[in-house]
Amino acid sequence: MKLKMPLHTKIIIGLIAGLIFGLASIFLGIPSYITIEFIKPAGVVFVNALKMIAVPLIIASLIVGVANLGDISKLSRMGGKTIMLYMVTTVIATTIGLFIVNIIKPGHVITPETREEILGIYSLEALETTGQAEILKRQGPLDPLVRMVPENFFGAATDNSNMLQVVFFSLIFGIAILKVPKNKSSAVIAFFDGANEVILTIIHFIMALAPIGVFALIAALIVELAGDNPSKAWEILSALLVYALTVIIGLLIMIMVIYPSIFKIFTKVKYKRFFKGVREAQLLAFSTSSSSATLPVTMECVEKNLRVSEEVTSFVLPLGATINMDGTSLYQSVAAVFIAQAMGIHLTLGSQIMIVLTATLASIGSAGVPGAGMVMLVIVLEAIGIPAAGLALIIAPDRILDMCRTIVNVTGDATVAMTIASTEGEDVGEHPVTKTG
Ligand code: ASP
Repeated sequence: MKLKMPLHTKIIIGLIAGLIFGLASIFLGIPSYITIEFIKPAGVVFVNALKMIAVPLIIASLIVGVANLGDISKLSRMGGKTIMLYMVTTVIATTIGLFIVNIIKPGHVITPETREEILGIYSLEALETTGQAEILKRQGPLDPLVRMVPENFFGAATDNSNMLQVVFFSLIFGIAILKVPKNKSSAVIAFFDGANEVILTIIHFIMALAPIGVFALIAALIVELAGDNPSKAWEILSALLVYALTVIIGLLIMIMVIYPSIFKIFTKVKYKRFFKGVREAQLLAFSTSSSSATLPVTMECVEKNLRVSEEVTSFVLPLGATINMDGTSLYQSVAAVFIAQAMGIHLTLGSQIMIVLTATLASIGSAGVPGAGMVMLVIVLEAIGIPAAGLALIIAPDRILDMCRTIVNVTGDATVAMTIASTEGEDVGEHPVTKTG
């Protein structure tokens, strides 16, 4: 009998194989360019393919989703609940981050010598990140709202960082369909419905490559992390271990306490069942460090495995991938306080409250791409008067922490999608898990 291995198992195998390959090539002294030039491209192609399908998927599924709603009042009700839940979970995450960083105090573990050494090594990279943040800081307070309306839809659709503009246009398009006589609208709906099916099939094609893509991404990551001097890299990483563990403990609290509680309160679905349904999206979030690249798979998992309607997933998840980043906001509050502790800067209660506020806003502004959370951290640091050069202290483990916080970002979006669907009376999560891919 031929046993078909589930996709998530294949992805896990790819992940472990990538880890082993990366470590082995460091220990065996295989030149890093072999991995970077010949293995990494497979990972880049995989991530690009996922990104390639994100905008078409949002357009087709959101238009069909809204057109299927029947009336607009449901949409505004859902919209209000979604934004509200996104805000609440983000503030909870930031507060948890603050809480544990103040208990564990990872910044006090670093000796002044280690601090100066790390600040020296990463000062250039910190400067670069601060420069990137400078552009974002020049925006006015209403800019995010203004930017939601694209001046050219096709322009918006050509850039993955304009996801919110695409969501906006697709929403308007879907709403307009509801206002048009049926004899005119039915062909339009049928077209996007069919296109949606085609796009889902393309996602299956791409996901079939996931194990290879994940292998390449992880192998390249290990080699890049080790750099030219693996023992030095390891020394710095271990000096920052307590800080990294503080972030990870916070993320685990979100996954193991906060989201299960939300499930208990708002849904009838067992958390374990939910976890099984979204594991492929979580694995991809970890491997790609990008909620935007993971979005097509998150939508597929929540819809197919957990039986949430397309009306909900097509609206809640793209929005979440752009504005809801619980893992990022938690990380930003831990990192800000850690830097202050390590630099001997005392933070008043006022500053700590300011962190909750700015980290919440900064996480909303972070794009769903690798490293975006660290760029926005500059804004949190400056709001509480910590020199942005302190960023150098947290650069070394950031890539690994990015992988972990992206899992929480994606899980948070899926949790809210499940909650919205449940409160809208949908019979979610009641069916056996089907495999994507
Ligand atoms: N990589 C994260 C995401 O895509 C954002 C970040 O925290 O850097 O969700």
